[in-house]
Amino acid sequence: MVRFNDAAKIVGLDDETYEVLKRPHKVVIVSLPVTMDNGRKKVFEGYRVIHSNILGPAKGGIRFDLGVHLDEVKALAAWMTWKCAVVDIPYGGAKGGVICDPRSMSVGELERLTRAYTSALVDVFGPDQDIPAPDMGTGQREMAWLMDEYSKAQGRTVNAVVTGKPLVLGGSLGRVEATGRGVMVSTLSAMNKMQINPAKAICAIQGFGNVGSNTATLLEERGLKICAISDHTGAFYNDKGINLAAAIAYKNANNGILHGFRGGDDISNAELLELAVDVLIPAAKEDVITLENAHNIKARLIVEGANGPTSASADSVLFKNEVSVVPDILANAGGVTVSYFEWVQNRIGYKWPLDRVNRRTDRVMKDAFEKVYKTAVEFKISLRLAAYVVAISKVAETYKYRGGY
Ligand code: NAD
Repeated sequence: MVRFNDAAKIVGLDDETYEVLKRPHKVVIVSLPVTMDNGRKKVFEGYRVIHSNILGPAKGGIRFDLGVHLDEVKALAAWMTWKCAVVDIPYGGAKGGVICDPRSMSVGELERLTRAYTSALVDVFGPDQDIPAPDMGTGQREMAWLMDEYSKAQGRTVNAVVTGKPLVLGGSLGRVEATGRGVMVSTLSAMNKMQINPAKAICAIQGFGNVGSNTATLLEERGLKICAISDHTGAFYNDKGINLAAAIAYKNANNGILHGFRGGDDISNAELLELAVDVLIPAAKEDVITLENAHNIKARLIVEGANGPTSASADSVLFKNEVSVVPDILANAGGVTVSYFEWVQNRIGYKWPLDRVNRRTDRVMKDAFEKVYKTAVEFKISLRLAAYVVAISKVAETYKYRGGY
């Protein structure tokens, strides 16, 4: 809300539109009785929040986690509105969640929960209304169950109701690497403006999951030296550059974690963030760059692969220290862009080859970056504020044309 309010002032948003955009359009709370493996019924609480459908059908992931909270779902739904608007895809924003501990549930229990959630929201979801996707605690498997349950209710296969599906069910090629690809394009675009030569640039990346490892590989292919990587079990530094293929192979053979990796010196995650590098990519979790450590950041450029890695209070410190930050709603929007392409492919009934998906993703990300950069220069504001200005202006202008009651 801090960033929304700041950008709303720059845009000169009128009170009426401000009141519309600050509230979610629709909030649905569902109660889900599910038969557990012990034969007893357990009742789960689930949410779906549509923040906005002004630009088009709402889009947003479903989170299965014990920490799911309605206020957080509302905030994440609004985030999706701005993310879709900034990359100019015709979607509104949504988010969903169920309070549960997926790690303690059997596959059967998770399937029954996913189907119960889908069935309870069958009138909310729809390819022209609200299109869910995976988020924390859910993946391709859950999206396949969701598609099947929704399709049964409609009496026909409706694969465009959800994205992030397995390839055989209409998932898109390139979706798995899409977010990392978008981070790579954003990084190179920003480096180009800052006149940082990729062949001489040094980069540190926090988080070595989907986003971190794909970003690292794609940037290395374009000449950057990745000198530090990390996950929740540790961080590693090598001034000659981490051997990424070795790190990925090690992680895959080691239960998905880097603990024990020998390709660099052990450092801490806190030290990784403060390394003297050209580019820092937080790609793990929220709130890792805060008021406490922002003044120790030595990177000239931060590209936010994760959602919310920089707390709002750290923004002004980074801006004052001339650290450029490509914000999450722009930098990690490659994922939702390819989700949009998945939906487009489902609707036309035709699968695009990988090179077409990648080419179009690159173009969307480059165009969005240019627009945000131009806005930042015009108003003499940070890229983050500029991204919000671009997004809010687009939604507000569309709202004006569509009108209300
Ligand atoms: P993931 O689960 O595949 O990977 C997360 C990585 O972060 C893992 O390597 C994990 O060990 C590491 N990590 C967790 N806590 C850490 C800590 N305290 N310190 C250092 N490393 C830590 O998740 P992901 O899909 O790569 O998502 C990462 C971030 O990117 C999240 O904020 C997510 O919301 C955001 N994001 C992901 C996508 C996507 O398409 N996957 C799209 C947009 C945004």
